[in-house]
Amino acid sequence: MKYNSTRASSVGVSAAQAIMQGISVDGGLFVPESLPEFTIEELAALAGKSYGEKAQIILSKFLTDFTGEELAACIQNAYGGGKFDSDGVFELSKVGESCYFLELWHGPTCAFKDMALQLLPQLLTASVKKVSPGQEVLVLVATSGDTGKAALEGFKDVPGVKIAVFYPENGVAEMQRLQMVTQEGGNLLTAAIQGNFDDAQSGVKQIFTDPSVKGKLAERGMVFSSANSINWGRLAPQVVYYIACYVAMMEKGEILPGEEVNVAVPTGNFGNLLAAYYAKRMGVPFGTLICASNRNNVLTDFIDTGIYDRNRDFYATNSPSMDILVSSNLERLLYELSGRDDGAVRGWFAALQEDGEYEVDEAVKEALAEGFWGGSCNDGETLAAIGRLFREYGYLCDTHTAVAAKAYWDYLEATGDERKVIIVSTASPYKFSDSVLRAISDTPVPDDPFEQAALLQRLAGVPAPPPLMSLKGKGIRFTESVAKDKMADYVLSQF
Ligand SMILES: *Cc1c(COP(=O)(O)O)cnc(C)c1O
Repeated sequence: MKYNSTRASSVGVSAAQAIMQGISVDGGLFVPESLPEFTIEELAALAGKSYGEKAQIILSKFLTDFTGEELAACIQNAYGGGKFDSDGVFELSKVGESCYFLELWHGPTCAFKDMALQLLPQLLTASVKKVSPGQEVLVLVATSGDTGKAALEGFKDVPGVKIAVFYPENGVAEMQRLQMVTQEGGNLLTAAIQGNFDDAQSGVKQIFTDPSVKGKLAERGMVFSSANSINWGRLAPQVVYYIACYVAMMEKGEILPGEEVNVAVPTGNFGNLLAAYYAKRMGVPFGTLICASNRNNVLTDFIDTGIYDRNRDFYATNSPSMDILVSSNLERLLYELSGRDDGAVRGWFAALQEDGEYEVDEAVKEALAEGFWGGSCNDGETLAAIGRLFREYGYLCDTHTAVAAKAYWDYLEATGDERKVIIVSTASPYKFSDSVLRAISDTPVPDDPFEQAALLQRLAGVPAPPPLMSLKGKGIRFTESVAKDKMADYVLSQF
């Protein structure tokens, strides 16, 4: 399997090269030259296999330059060893007659990013061994919360890699900050940036493209890589859980083989929803893909009109991991929906760069209308959705998952489509105890995040995850706060 760029259909690099490089030199994203397909019989035959075994079968079709042994070792290091608190890695919770919450947050950092960021470091180090043996990799991450912790945990003590994570000094939840500054491991650091998330992100981008920094690193035998969600090594692992979820529903007799189910996904950078689309193309009988946004509803408007317009106000919401105006992975969807028209994709993204806006052609608009539905809600509606799920069904979910539930209800009302639905649940409610408490009770909310979690546990009767509760009293390792124009110096002084 070779990989092309969304902006140049003839690049033809190996999976290892695509994973190590992260992004193509033309600025496009790496995409597989074809999508492997599974028949219903082949899907049914996955029943009874462990999550790791399913991952091996599915990923071996994408990562054809990895040997079976290499892939098995990567998968074992990622999903084995009790890192996930569920034997199946994910959990499926049935709520009411037709909703199935696919809980992807049973990993070490209690957010769905673990599903990919446990495996990416393994794939990355294996890729470097193939492409440029002997080199060390330095991974830089700018985070608004969940990605940073998941990346630290995934790369912790992985040989041949070092990682630095930057978060905005006043821009992450207290629980998220504690998760990062208490991180253990000998090959990593995290630092606050005196600025907002955009400052952290553009600082990281600047370091990446600064030839003098690159040169200094090269003298030390190091190369840069990226762990953000445009890396193919983060996307491929996400296809696995959609296939595994459908197989689990068949296995439990919840659906007949081949029965179509809809999927609702809380969306930010579009990686998670794109993986559902790939799974559908690969033969999983998914119906409508419901794209759920918070008040930053640039994708909702895009699905409705075919016009992507980022020239709008940015809102800080109570589902912060979806506060985003430029959804990078949408580029991969447009490449597929346009019939892999790299020229059209180049044009749209040049327009986005220049004017902050582009409009796709009629064929893409039709394909969007056929397969997708967009919904969005504000903070109040998010809390109301949490409250409704808790009161009517005794099901507790976080703010991001609630946005998807609300979009699904709106879809149901608009279309009357009563097919069963998978609602993707992306974070533990305890990561956002503050908002969840406000949604389910009138009790005053304490300031301390551990008191919040304890109160939520008392009210909801659902145990708080040990990885969050054990942060209490843990020593703070990282106290550095770096000026935004000093990030490169800081990185070079540390590694
Ligand atoms: C990252 C994240 C999302 C958005 O996922 P994308 O793949 O970027 O669309 C949703 N919910 C949570 C909790 C997240 O951490």
